[in-house]
Amino acid sequence: MYDYDVIIVGGGLAGLTAAIHLSQEKHSVLVLEKKTYPHHKVCGEYVSNEIIPYLNALGVPMDSSKAVQIDNLTLSTVSGKWTQTQLPLGGIGISRYSFDHLLHQRAVANDVKFVFESVTEIEFKADFFEVSTENDQTFTSKVTIGAYGKRSPIDKRLNRDFIKQKSGWLGVKSHYEFDEFPENQVALHNFKGGYGGLSKTETGAVNFCYLASYSSFQKLKNVSDFNEKVVSRNPFLNDFLGKATPIFNEPLTIAQISFQQKKSIENHILMCGDTAGLIHPLCGNGMAMAIHSAKIASEQVNHFLKDTSNRKQLETAYEKEWQKTFKKRLWMGRHLQSLLLNEEMSNLALRAVTTSPALLRKLVRQTHGKPIVC
Ligand SMILES: Cc1cc2nc3c(=O)[nH]c(=O)nc-3n(C[C@H](O)[C@H](O)[C@H](O)COP(=O)(O)OP(=O)(O)OC[C@H]3O[C@@H](n4cnc5c(N)ncnc54)[C@H](O)[C@@H]3O)c2cc1C
Repeated sequence: MYDYDVIIVGGGLAGLTAAIHLSQEKHSVLVLEKKTYPHHKVCGEYVSNEIIPYLNALGVPMDSSKAVQIDNLTLSTVSGKWTQTQLPLGGIGISRYSFDHLLHQRAVANDVKFVFESVTEIEFKADFFEVSTENDQTFTSKVTIGAYGKRSPIDKRLNRDFIKQKSGWLGVKSHYEFDEFPENQVALHNFKGGYGGLSKTETGAVNFCYLASYSSFQKLKNVSDFNEKVVSRNPFLNDFLGKATPIFNEPLTIAQISFQQKKSIENHILMCGDTAGLIHPLCGNGMAMAIHSAKIASEQVNHFLKDTSNRKQLETAYEKEWQKTFKKRLWMGRHLQSLLLNEEMSNLALRAVTTSPALLRKLVRQTHGKPIVC
């Protein structure tokens, strides 16, 4: 016998959503998460509305979150040429500090068990999993979901392909006081070697989060020099950084962000969220994809645990549905990012979308899903 029906490694958005969904189906669930809640995370904090019906169905009290409603997208190039459009579906602005915490509280109310330790090993033994933590605790389960985010030493233990390749991206995020920023706007501003997003959160703070290529960042080595000498060349970002007051003592940073393709199943572990594949942040859709992938995994795991499918069918169905739902979006995200990071091409593209906001809305639609039907 095993300790839990399901062990979820990583309690970010994907892991917490799967935990709530599966506990609602009366399966016993353990989440192993390395950090306690609440905590800040490097993220643009713009969440596409496509996942709101599903979160409501899971009983996550989104209405109580005080998230701001966002329906306007503003885009600018390095030199400050800009355009804006109405977002087809829109979204909300909410800090990860609050969002993950809200889901955690919902999971606890559903009787999901949490152990706050880092997972070091996941082994598949014939027909069950053995999951070990940094403090030598071992837990067993019938199903294990990998939802540990973009990168972890677990990927090395599993010998995953993407981890063998260099990933030259860095993420930086901080909250600022800047009252004049419009509440309904998400802005995407380009700079040499990267781009940054601005949007308000539920506290009224503006989140500024950017992605920069390591090759452009390493010439300056620290965030304040990079902000001053590279990021501020964009006149919108220059204005923002000149007037806004930082709230965090230091910005949060993450390195080695990989956009390589990944497998959605490794050694019988169902990978969810960024662990299965990360979309380029300019699409503003990674969180919705993480939550949606948790839904797809949970539905298949539920069939398996109720004996209406076997392990092979579970894995085949998850892989197939994952590809069907996300493959095109990831492809589109890769192409849009390379376009945005090429100065000449991004100027040309911006000229095209300035004359045709409908084209911009079409591009946004290509990287987003429809509202999730529950
Ligand atoms: C710069 C940047 C900006 C972005 N902006 C946006 C945006 O505006 N909108 C949007 O929708 N998406 C955005 N994204 C993408 C979004 O942040 C991710 O897609 C989303 O966080 C994925 O959620 P997740 O649950 O898969 O992973 P995470 O939220 O990263 O959760 C993984 C969890 O696993 C835990 N963990 C890791 N290793 C272990 C271990 N060994 N043992 C136990 N626990 C472990 C971590 O502590 C973490 O809590 C952005 C990404 C970047 C890099």
